[in-house]
Parts: sequence; C-alpha cells; structure tokens
Amino acid sequence: MDSMLNRRTFLKTGVASLPLAAAIQALHPDTTSGETIADVATSGPAPKLIPLPARLAPIDPATLPWQQKIRRVGQSNMTEHDPAVMNVEKWANYWHSAGADIVFISVTGILAFYPSKVKFHRHGKFLNGRDFFGECVAAARKRGMRVVARMSPDLNWGDALEAHPEWAMRDADGSVLLSGEDPRLFRTCMFTSYMDDYMPAIMREINSLYDVDCFYSNGWPPIGNLPNCHCAICSKFPPPDTTAYWQIFNDRVLELWHKYDAIAKDKKPDSFYFANLGGNVRCGPNLDLLGKTAVWFQADNQGRTSDDSSVWGCSLQGRVCSAVMDGKFAANVTAAYSTGTVRWRNASKNPAEAKMWLSESVASGMAPYFHFIGSEAGFGEDRRWQKVGADYFRWTKKHDAHLTPRRSVANIGVVIGQSTQLLYQGPAVAHSHAYMRETTHGLYEALLSGRFAFDFVHEDRLDSDRIGKYRALLLPNIAVLSDRQCQQLRDYVRSGGSIMASFETGLYNEKLQSRTEFGLADLMGVSKAGDVIGTTGNAYYGRMERQHPILDGFVNTNWLPGAQNSVPLKPVPDPVLTVVPGFVQYPPELAYPPVSHTNEPAVVLREAGPSRLAYFPGDIERTFWLTGHGDLLRLLHNTIRWLTHDESVVHIAGDGFIELFAWETSPGYSVHLLNYTNPNAHHGWLGSVYPLGAQTVSMKLPAEVKIKSVELLRAESSIPFRLESQALHFTIPRVEDYEVAAITVG
Ligand SMILES: [Zn+2]
Repeated sequence: MDSMLNRRTFLKTGVASLPLAAAIQALHPDTTSGETIADVATSGPAPKLIPLPARLAPIDPATLPWQQKIRRVGQSNMTEHDPAVMNVEKWANYWHSAGADIVFISVTGILAFYPSKVKFHRHGKFLNGRDFFGECVAAARKRGMRVVARMSPDLNWGDALEAHPEWAMRDADGSVLLSGEDPRLFRTCMFTSYMDDYMPAIMREINSLYDVDCFYSNGWPPIGNLPNCHCAICSKFPPPDTTAYWQIFNDRVLELWHKYDAIAKDKKPDSFYFANLGGNVRCGPNLDLLGKTAVWFQADNQGRTSDDSSVWGCSLQGRVCSAVMDGKFAANVTAAYSTGTVRWRNASKNPAEAKMWLSESVASGMAPYFHFIGSEAGFGEDRRWQKVGADYFRWTKKHDAHLTPRRSVANIGVVIGQSTQLLYQGPAVAHSHAYMRETTHGLYEALLSGRFAFDFVHEDRLDSDRIGKYRALLLPNIAVLSDRQCQQLRDYVRSGGSIMASFETGLYNEKLQSRTEFGLADLMGVSKAGDVIGTTGNAYYGRMERQHPILDGFVNTNWLPGAQNSVPLKPVPDPVLTVVPGFVQYPPELAYPPVSHTNEPAVVLREAGPSRLAYFPGDIERTFWLTGHGDLLRLLHNTIRWLTHDESVVHIAGDGFIELFAWETSPGYSVHLLNYTNPNAHHGWLGSVYPLGAQTVSMKLPAEVKIKSVELLRAESSIPFRLESQALHFTIPRVEDYEVAAITVG
C-alpha cells in the first residue's frame, strides 16, 4: 500500500487533491462509473450469510392466552344513527363470513348504546330504550366471534360539565377545552375523577349485564404527543414538554390501566383492558412500560397522513410493537375509509392502499384489523370496502400458521429513542416538531433501499440479553441517553457489537439536560469542539482523505455532501473524511469555502477487535430524508455494511424498492417482501401495483435443519429451492404488491 501512503502524504502537503479520486478508482477498477450518484448496496458483492440461531422449542397452542390466537379483527365503528339503520344480522354475517375472530362493539362513554343507568352516560337519540349493544354481543357470540367492549373516555356533554366542572381539560386562561369539531362536547382530563369514577362505573355496569371478552378505550391515552391541560390538578404539574411531566403522565396511564384491568378481571380472570396506542416511535406513554403492562397493543395508525406520508407507516409501527411486546398480541387498525389530511370517514379508500396497509400489518408481525365507520354508509351507501377486507381476511385465514411470527431473525438493531422523539425538538438552529420524524424516516428509507434486515430497539431495553443478538446498533441522533444507557452501549461494544451514531447522540441526559461532552465520547472516540452549526446557503462537505470501505464507489470527486447541521469535533488522528466548512450558495462569487482543508473530522471510525464504530457529526439521516441525495445514501449503506462486516441473515437480490421482514415461525420461516416500487410510495395513496421481477432469496439455516417446501403464499404456488451446506436459495419469480415465501422445515 505504498502508493496509498504516498498519496496521503501528497494530500497532506496541500499541493493538490485532484488525483485522489482517480487513484482510488485505479485501486478499485471494478467500481461503477465515476458519474454514478446512486445506491449500490443491493448490487455490491454478495454479503456473508450468517447462520440463523437454533430453532425455538415448539410451543403448545393450548398454553397461549386466548388473545394470542386472534388473527383477524373487525370493526364497524358504531354511530348514534346505527341503532336506527344497522341490520345487526347483516353486520354479524359480514364479519363472520370474512373470518374475523373478534369484533369491536361500542359501549362508549360519550353515547350509550344500551340503556345505561350511569349518570351522564347519555343515551343516543335513536336508541329508544333498545339494548343495541346486547343484541350485537349476542349476534357475535352466536357465530363464535369474541367481543371487545369499546369505550371512549375522551369527550362528554354540557350537563356533565355543569355538574362536574373539574372533569374538563382547560386552557391556560382557564377556559374549557372543547372538541375541535363539535363544541357541544368538552375534552375530559385524564387526571380527574372522570377517569377514576365515571369510566369504572360504565365498566362495572357492562360486567353486570353482558358477557364480553375484554375492554378497550378509544381516544386515550393521547397519541403522538402529551396532553397540555391547565385544570386545577394539571396546573400543579411541570410543563408538558419536560421529562418530569412525562413521568407523571406515565404513572397515571399505568395507574388507570391497572385499575381498569382489575375491573375487567373481576368478571373473568382471562379478561383484560387495553387502550388506544400508536404514534409509532412517538408514542405518548413509555413503550417499555406499556410492553410490560399491555397484553394487546392496539396500534391506531390507520393510514397515511400529510405529516407521515410514507407508505411504510404501518410496518414502522409493527417494528415498534415487536420491540416492546415480546411476542404478545399486537394489531394495527387499517382504515377501510379515506384517511389523510382531507378525510371522508364514510367513503372507501383505494383498494391497493388498503391492502398494502393490511399487508404491512401482517408482514411486520401484527394482526390485520379492518375498520369502517357507520353502518348507514358501510352496509348501505358505500359497500366497496367489504370485499377488500373479506378477501384479505380469507386469504390470511388459509395461512395463519405461516403468518404468525415467533421471532425476528434480523441482525441490525435501530435504537428508537422514544424520549428523544417526544421531548427533543432538534438543535436550536433547526428547531421543529418534525425533526426526529424526518430523522427516523431518513434512516428507515436507507435501510429499506439497502434491503437490510433490522429491528427496532427501545432505549430502555438495552440489556445485553436483548441487544446481544445484533451485529450492529444504529443510533440516529438519539440525543437523550442516560448514563446507564451509555454504559449498556459500552458493554455491548466490549462484547463485540458495532455502533453507528450521528449528530447530537448522547448530548443530553435523561432529564433532557445538555452534557458538555458526548455521553459516548470515550466509546466513539469523539470530543465536542463547539455548538451545533447550521447551514446558510451551502451545507458543509466532507473531504475524502484516504481510502476506506465506507467510501467505496465514490470516484471522480474529493468532496461529498455533508449534512444540514453538525456538531464541530476536535481533530482525530488519520481522519477518513474532514469537514470543508459551509458557505453561501449566493452570490456565486462568494460560493467557495473560507478554508478548503481542515483537520475537523466529518466522520470518526474506530475498530476494536470485531467491533466497528462510526460516528457522523452531521444529521446525515435527516439530511438524506430532506434531499434524497444518493451520496448520503451510499455513505449510509457502505457504513452499515462495514459495521456489520457485510454479514447478512437474509439476502434478497433483485430490482425494486421493497421492505423485507424475516421471521422464524412454527412451521419454519417466513420471508415477507412488500413492494413499494410505486409513484405513490412517498405521497398520496397507492392506486395500482407495479409488479417486480425475480427476487432471489438466500439465507443460512441452523445445522441439521432440512427443508420440506418453499411456498409463495400470495401466488399460492410452490417453488423450487436449493440447500447447499445449509445455505438455502430460491427465486421468487414475480412480486405483485406483496409476497410471502413460507419455508416449511422438517
Ligand atoms: Zn387536567
């Protein structure tokens, strides 16, 4: 490598830097052409297949709680008008014939669907003394379907407010917070006796009158943010954007959850309570605590929104559930109706979009759950959603064994940093509620386009028996890390793990107080040299200083794009990339760097035994999301491949933008491919499907495991396979919107 040393010496003399790229290209004659600014991760050298772990012991289904055997969930969300227009038999026949195992039936709390005697539980104006809830329960039971009693504690009426002014959420000026859409309803505060007394009274009344399987509350706890209430109780709390408030909020959620759960169990020991959750990585309550408490994770991510417009919104939620539920039940609500910024909650949405959301639920390990609102439309005016849901449910029912995951086989863990997501709003120069969402989506897209198999890992679950299975952990600007979490990450690296981290990772403790030095400074070999620098005009660049695998494929250039914002670092020995400081983009006369060559690192790389560490001082994942720049994508892909020593648990070669999941199942393994190659992947709804050609799957099975068959569950056909030295290879000839390769062992 004399030539390389010479070149480095040559560079450091500062005489010229132009020959570098050409020299790198000479060293890598097989690299792509110099002008390619695109990803190569899926077309690079074949990764090293790592054998899957020994298979889990078989499980006796009889030992599972009943809810873990639920595979399909149906809900026609009941309106006040439904007692007048809904044909109960027709409703029950639809869900039964579709194969729903359980249906939601409305008790509510806003309007009673039965002759409730609980004070302020207002009877719907079309109820006329009828026991609509009881009729629905009986119709479902007659058909062998289980029943969720659905409540809604979030709103109530003026008469309740008059008698109990303390039940209301209040603004800073003391005024009552009303429903944003119907001002006859006020918003109830979760810290008041409304939740302690009123909701339990309804639950006990249901217990006394009906046989239901479990209780659910809609509209609480809040999804995606924390309540901001100034009632007499809440005004004594710290401000809602603080960790101190989050603690109080979490304590209250769990207090009520346990209280309601105990009431459910008063009637039947195998009954339980669960609440409305979702918000993916920005869930309101602490996900680690929820995972320990909930036996049903109800993910209310019903469809894409203008805020979260990516097609993978549902599977992203599924990864969150997998991270915290330890195999317990999770379901994601798919709106059969038209979700989005402008909504029509009683009109069917595009079938291609609805089916993709259902497929994402299944692929990511959740049960599919189909939901329409109101029978006036749902079983009358617009019936198009019915076939979409029934066909999908019937397909899953044929393949339940293969579609029920036991554990993920992924070898990369992405730390989701829930407290960072909820409480940190980005650096002062780019403060925004969307900051961390953009960060998450940037890394998510990079991982999908590189076809990496990954799981989410919650920051409160960094114990070695959980994270030890991952070859690498990725920390996309996980700003908030406690000392304990930093120590767990050090231990992980000491035991051979690799880490990629970026930007302000570890610059705040668990109380959101900033640290003077990175919490992982010693581990990553970095030291802060100043406050975050933003961009005025032209963002900074990284200058390539020497050859390294993370720079593979960059030719004909010495500069690479940096990121929008960065933390200045102290120099390190022998840097791979150095910072070319940002400058104006206009006027062009001034569009050149104040200094072309610095010793400030734009990436810091370390190796210690099998551990590899990479720290990017810029917000590289988010900048990729904002720009889509192929250089940033290549840099992320190269770095992840370097960190993992190019090890892979499942390799899928072929064209197209897909999301992949690989699970161990009871019969064997399942490999799921979601086809996002679609003009609507980032916006709007899928309108039609753009099928993919052949995808070749390779994975290495544990010793002794033999294969009986490989079936494609969507195409409903068996395909040939090859097993050589435990390496399994097969080709999926075509992928429509979704395909599942179901591998049966034995
Ligand atoms: Zn309050």
